[in-house]
Amino acid sequence: MLLQVGGKRSALGLLAIRRVWSMSRSAHTASQTLEYKPIKKVMVANRGEIAIRVFRACTELGIRTVAVYSEQDTGQMHRQKADEAYLIGKGLPPVAAYLHIPDIIKVAKENDVDAIHPGYGFLSERADFAQACVDAGVRFIGPTPDVVRKMGDKVEARAIATSAGVPVVPGTDAPISSLQEAQEFSNSYGFPIIFKAAYGGGGRGMRVVREYEELEENYQRAYSEALAAFGNGALFVEKFIEKPRHIEVQILGDKYGNVIHLYERDCSIQRRHQKVVEIAPATQLDPHLRDRLTADSVNLARQVSYENAGTVEFLVDKHGKHYFIEVNSRLQVEHTVTEEITDVDLVHAQLRVCEGRSLPELGLKQDKIRINGYAIQCRVTTEDPARGFQPDTGRLEVFRSGEGMGIRLDSASAFQGAVISPHYDSLLVKVIASGKDLPAASAKMSRALAEFRVRGVKTNIPFLQNVLSNNQFLNGTVDTQFIDENQDLFNLKPVQNRAQKLLHYLGNLLLNN
Ligand code: ADP
Ligand code: ADP
Ligand code: MG
Repeated sequence: MLLQVGGKRSALGLLAIRRVWSMSRSAHTASQTLEYKPIKKVMVANRGEIAIRVFRACTELGIRTVAVYSEQDTGQMHRQKADEAYLIGKGLPPVAAYLHIPDIIKVAKENDVDAIHPGYGFLSERADFAQACVDAGVRFIGPTPDVVRKMGDKVEARAIATSAGVPVVPGTDAPISSLQEAQEFSNSYGFPIIFKAAYGGGGRGMRVVREYEELEENYQRAYSEALAAFGNGALFVEKFIEKPRHIEVQILGDKYGNVIHLYERDCSIQRRHQKVVEIAPATQLDPHLRDRLTADSVNLARQVSYENAGTVEFLVDKHGKHYFIEVNSRLQVEHTVTEEITDVDLVHAQLRVCEGRSLPELGLKQDKIRINGYAIQCRVTTEDPARGFQPDTGRLEVFRSGEGMGIRLDSASAFQGAVISPHYDSLLVKVIASGKDLPAASAKMSRALAEFRVRGVKTNIPFLQNVLSNNQFLNGTVDTQFIDENQDLFNLKPVQNRAQKLLHYLGNLLLNN
């Protein structure tokens, strides 16, 4: 439905006139009389699969695409998939290049870029970057800089949640500045507790403390980790919830105060607080709880006049109580599963909202959003599960993927001959399986994973296969401690083809004689 609206580019002028007219009738304030400004060229300030994901959406909407790449990424696929590509961060280390705001803005200005999509990670949740875009007259495809700032500060986001009437995990309402404050918190609330980086993300900068004796050491470690990873050591403390489910709600807002949700995802399957497998919708979720989660998310978003796509994350404890943990003010890695079950292209929506379209105009009304079946996403990484998930690098000598009905693959470097470098995130391909229910989607996923043949670089596929065949997973009853508590997931049966088996056999024969 979104596509149809997007397809009528010849009617844009007409829409713009209608927009101003309808806004003058329905706007809450005069300042909301905004006009529709089409986007003709988009730059993605990111790399890998997410850059390509956004380019694809742009191309579908007739928008020209611009890639930026680091020196280390000269041979990477996202460069090829854009209409134009420019080097940034010359002479800089690999990650620093994608964080170099002046270079990114310069390329945007010099090449008539209308809007920048930040992807996830890198600059996506940096308010100073959103502001730099605005200052340069380039639109930032995301919330306003002020909202990015509020949401990026987890302590402030908690306070906003509280004022919107959303329950939060019991925790300190300001960053702590001494070990003593952590001790006071644990005296009042007891153990276990978790130290969290106030400006953290990506599962990093978190430490669980189960007893008093471990408090000091973990405080010091969490502080140094946060400082190293986020350039700011500020920590806060939360009560650690035992065996919760991680359930998050996808939201979309426009420039006119409309906010809708696109239901939830269950991201409980995590390793080291990082998501590995995501499912939409959540299985066996009490409908009343679903209503509370979605209503709380929409209320929170309204509280800050949230614009564009975002995610409100919650933990749900064993008693079905839910607690807000954070907002990710960007597109998430696992947005795909929501797209599969709702049939809404979230990147199209992001672009249209940024142009000034309203959600109703895009056909995105709450009562039109329906859940259709189930979708599962596996993050296939170039990590070796047999060696503690150490990232592996090298050339993909063989690469054959699992495809066919019900399978979607979002990737950048997943092809024979691709070079997997050590410089960036180890995500190789996102495999998304859809089906009418969880067993149907799981069967598609297992079948697709079994079809993969990757040689030259190790992947976590054998581990994912174990997850997919686990009964607890199939029953839909996993919590965030599922991986830690199921050691049999680490029993990896190497998948061998006939030639390898023969070589193995001959090798043994030689060794034994
Ligand atoms: P999602 O919530 O979309 O699943 P993740 O939390 O897995 O996203 O993070 C997405 C990517 O962004 C990962 O590569 C992660 O390492 C990175 N990331 C997330 N937050 C930050 C941050 N604050 N600083 C640096 N990298 C981050
Ligand atoms: P990040 O910004 O790194 O994504 P989050 O606050 O979203 O950090 O937490 C990531 C994960 O860490 C959660 O999904 C959950 O598994 C775990 N976690 C975070 N806070 C708590 C808590 N208070 N109790 C239990 N687990 C938690
Ligand atoms: Mg999170």
